[in-house]
This record gives sequence, structure tokens and C-alpha cells, in this order.
Amino acid sequence: MAKPLVTIDLDKIEHNARTIVGLCRSHGIAVTGVTKGTCGHPEVAKAMLRGGVASIGESRLENISRLRVAGIDVPIMLLRISWLSGVDDIVDSVDLSLNSEPSVLRALSQAAQARGRVHDVIVMVDLGDLREGVWPEDLPAVVRETLALPGIRLVGLGASLSCFSGVVPSEENMNQLVRYARRIEREFGIRLEWISGGSSSALELITAGRMPKAINHVRIGEGILLGRETIRRRPWPGTFQDAFLLQAEVLELMRKPSLPIGERSEDAFGELPEFVDRGEIDRAILNIGRQDVSVEGMTPVDQDVTIIGASSGYVIADVTRTKGRLRVGDELAFGLNYAALLAAMTSPYVEKETIEGGVRPSVP
Ligand SMILES: *Cc1c(COP(=O)(O)O)cnc(C)c1O
Repeated sequence: MAKPLVTIDLDKIEHNARTIVGLCRSHGIAVTGVTKGTCGHPEVAKAMLRGGVASIGESRLENISRLRVAGIDVPIMLLRISWLSGVDDIVDSVDLSLNSEPSVLRALSQAAQARGRVHDVIVMVDLGDLREGVWPEDLPAVVRETLALPGIRLVGLGASLSCFSGVVPSEENMNQLVRYARRIEREFGIRLEWISGGSSSALELITAGRMPKAINHVRIGEGILLGRETIRRRPWPGTFQDAFLLQAEVLELMRKPSLPIGERSEDAFGELPEFVDRGEIDRAILNIGRQDVSVEGMTPVDQDVTIIGASSGYVIADVTRTKGRLRVGDELAFGLNYAALLAAMTSPYVEKETIEGGVRPSVP
């Protein structure tokens, strides 16, 4: 292993997708599987599709092109709101985009018309998380203008919660979204195909049976990839949390003190790290660092291993409790949270390898 490696267990991803899709389906909700945490990894998208997701959601055109080149021809939804300089590429690449800015909708309309196409749009409404979305009182005007634009078709309303300010999806704000949709339908005499209620943070509301019936679509990334809902990051029942594992090689393994020697200033990242005196410990230096991963989001699979710090190119672990089991050149495995997954999948210094693990009969 020349580089650190992320192994991707496609069977576990398929299984997780099947679990989430099944839950949502039983509440009348369609699932778009979101692959952006893996930079649009085509095998991950295919595993999600085998698990039953209706379409794929992505936020970057580079990732979408990776999916298309790999032969994935299902509908792809562009999750990042459309941008003015990208309208031609957007119309060429995806069937459906999320939008909020009227000027961008006008440009999308022109781009679609120039290509003799009809491009579908969902208009995002800001329910209070203060990321993307039209402010509710401006919604009727934006919808009026959108409906008048040739070449684009308004297929629904959507909202994003939790991602930026951490506002939790609730019966109340979801009902609010439904009320906006119904009002638009009444006012303009149209029917909206989709009311897209959110992401992995909506899973609890759905299971509890408190998601309003009219919400018929969600966009799920982390719930499928890492098997967690995202309000409290609890493992989701019937899913695997370890479809992705990071393997890193031990470069140096020596017994040294646990406390640094000499006067100390800030480290390479402007922090003054604190260390606990545990006497002499076995310290392993690994071939992965802050340039590749969010170190705080790594969890050693071996419970006798503890991460004590990191620099751009190294993670340092206390491996004293492995009692000599470990050798230079061995690999250590780590579970990843979403931030760590995103970084590792994006790092060119980290190899990615898909495996078909074969799903064990009982899920943890
Ligand atoms: C990333 C993203 C999602 C998926 O979020 P998860 O928390 O991974 O489920 C959903 N909607 C939008 C708009 C996104 O950008």
C-alpha cells in the first residue's frame, strides 16, 4: 500500500440504501441518493441505485460528469443552486436543478431554449436555516416569473435545513413548506409534482410518522453512506456505519515520552496542543494527515489505539495498549465521520478501493 486507502464496501451501501428507501417508501416519500460525500463515485451511485434510490443528487458538475462517463443514465439532480456562469453546462448535464435566484432562472431558461430543451427546476424556500432559498414572502413573485419563462418547468418546492445553521426539521416547518406549496398551487392553478423536504436530518421525523403526508421527496447522503441520521448523529437502525474505512500505514513506531521536551509555541496550525503525561508510550506515526482528512472525524477500529495529534502529513497515535502487536509497515483502520469522508474522498493522496464485502445476516 503506497498511499493511504479508503475501502468502500458496496454491499453495505446498497443495504443502507435499501433500508432508507424502504422506510421512506412506506411513508410515501421518494429518495434521491446523494453521492457528493464521495465526489460522485460511480460505483457508490450504482450501489445506491441497486438499493432502490429513484435518482442521484450531486452538487458539482465535475462529479456529475464522472457519473455520466461511467454510464449512469438515471435522472441526476443538481443540489447546489444553479449559478449564473454555469447555466449552459447545467442544462447539458442534469435533468433537474435546485434554484433560488430569479436572474439565474432567466438564464437557465435562455440556455434551455437555445438547446431546444425543457429543464426542470425546484425552487428552494428558506425556512429559517438561512442558507439557500427564496424568502417566503417573495415566493409568489419568483414563482410567477418562473412559470412565465419558456424552456423551464417548475416541478416543485424544496427546503434545506440543518446543513448551515443547524435548524432541525419539525412538523411545524415542514407543514409550513406544505402550506407554501398549496398556496402556490391555488394561486397559479398548477400542481407541484414534488415537495422536497430535506436530508438525512429528516429521518427521525419520518420514522416517528410526524412528517406531513404531502412531503413526497427527500435527498439522502449521510444516512446511506454512513448509516446515521444527522440531528444527533445516531446510528440508523438496520444500517452499517462502516461502509467506508480508512487504512493508514505505520511509518515509525517508537517508545517515547507522552510530554514534549522544551519550551513550546504554537504548532503548524496555529494551535497550542495539550498533552497528558502518561509516562513513556508507544507512538505510531501514520502516513495520513490534515491535508487528507479531518483528523477529528477519524475513529480507530482497534479500541486499543488512540489518536493524540496530527500535522499536515502525519497522524500520531498512542498504541501502547496494543502491547507490541503492531509493526512498522502494518496498517491501522479508521471509521470516518462525514467531514473526514468528504476530505479523504477528495484527497488525491488517498487511494479508493471498492470491495464487495457481502452483508452479514445481522446488522449491528
Ligand atoms: C448535501 C445535500 C443533501 C444531503 O444531505 P445529507 O445530510 O448528507 O443527507 C440534501 N440536500 C442538499 C441541497 C444538499 O446539498
